[in-house]
Amino acid sequence: MRYILPIILATALSAQQVEIRGTYADPKAFWAAGARLDDYAINAIFVHSGSITPALIERAKAEGAAVYAEFATLNGKGYVEQHPEAWPIDERGERAPAATWFLGACPTEPGFKAHRLRQLEQLLDSREVAGVWMDYFHWHAQFEEPEPILPETCFSDTCLRAFAAAAGLTIPAGSTAEKAKWILSRHERAWRDWRVDVLGAWAREFRDVMRRKKPGALLGVYHCPWTDEEYDGARRRTLGLDLEALAGVVDVFSPMVYHGRMGRPPEWVGEYVEWISSRLSAPVKIWPIVQAHGEPTPISAGEFERVMRLGTSGRASGIMMFTFGSVAGDPAKLASLKRLYRDWAGMR
Ligand SMILES: [Zn+2]
Repeated sequence: MRYILPIILATALSAQQVEIRGTYADPKAFWAAGARLDDYAINAIFVHSGSITPALIERAKAEGAAVYAEFATLNGKGYVEQHPEAWPIDERGERAPAATWFLGACPTEPGFKAHRLRQLEQLLDSREVAGVWMDYFHWHAQFEEPEPILPETCFSDTCLRAFAAAAGLTIPAGSTAEKAKWILSRHERAWRDWRVDVLGAWAREFRDVMRRKKPGALLGVYHCPWTDEEYDGARRRTLGLDLEALAGVVDVFSPMVYHGRMGRPPEWVGEYVEWISSRLSAPVKIWPIVQAHGEPTPISAGEFERVMRLGTSGRASGIMMFTFGSVAGDPAKLASLKRLYRDWAGMR
């Protein structure tokens, strides 16, 4: 008898527990196939805020899953065309061109910020979501490609004024290009720090709105999966993402470890999750999003299962995949998902 207990304990401890067994994207293809979330042990679905309806929330709840809103935050496409004052301005003083498919927005333009905060309030007033995940939360740039695009922005009038005030500097008169050159050559460090602070202020305002409207709901961020050193420190330097600064504000980091999109091997998913696990301490949680979508090259069911397992490395306590539709459309991936999630939920 005394030998049995340690064996039972060892078995229980060796079974991996994953608290959040998530999916990303509208579950309509999954539901259309006649599947149920609880049968797959899915307990969290992340859906674009505009696609969340009361009926979707009700059905997810009936099948044991909470709904989290993906909230497009600093993307400008669809807004800056109508409100050119919010177009990000590059170091030449010109409107920054779209970086492949992404176009950012000026994060200090007051009309744009008011617009996004209003959208957040409307979402929280009208939908019972368990959390909001800030997406496209970075200064204008493109990191979801094998060769990232890392422009210098934003030198709009509102940014120049806000930076000068925050840094206690008087920017010499001249063209925008001359001002940008002066800042980058003489006050680069203050500029990079200020850009981090601007995103921190956005995150704090989001958190404050959520505490007021939906106490207990989580604030998450879909995050660039680069270490501190990669691309000459571009995660902080260009995107404005400082891990410590954000960890003090958000509840959950969801690094976007899209190995296929970024031209990296599946093993990198595990390496990165281990890295960020050691870099960020509790209570901030880590729920990575891995790639299931077959673009630019196909992702096999075996590869999908591999990155799902690697995505739960380190101290990750949740996971989701991009996209749920890609899994729902592939019987082999669906079978992998069901096996993994039921196992991680302790279901047999
Ligand atoms: Zn600006």
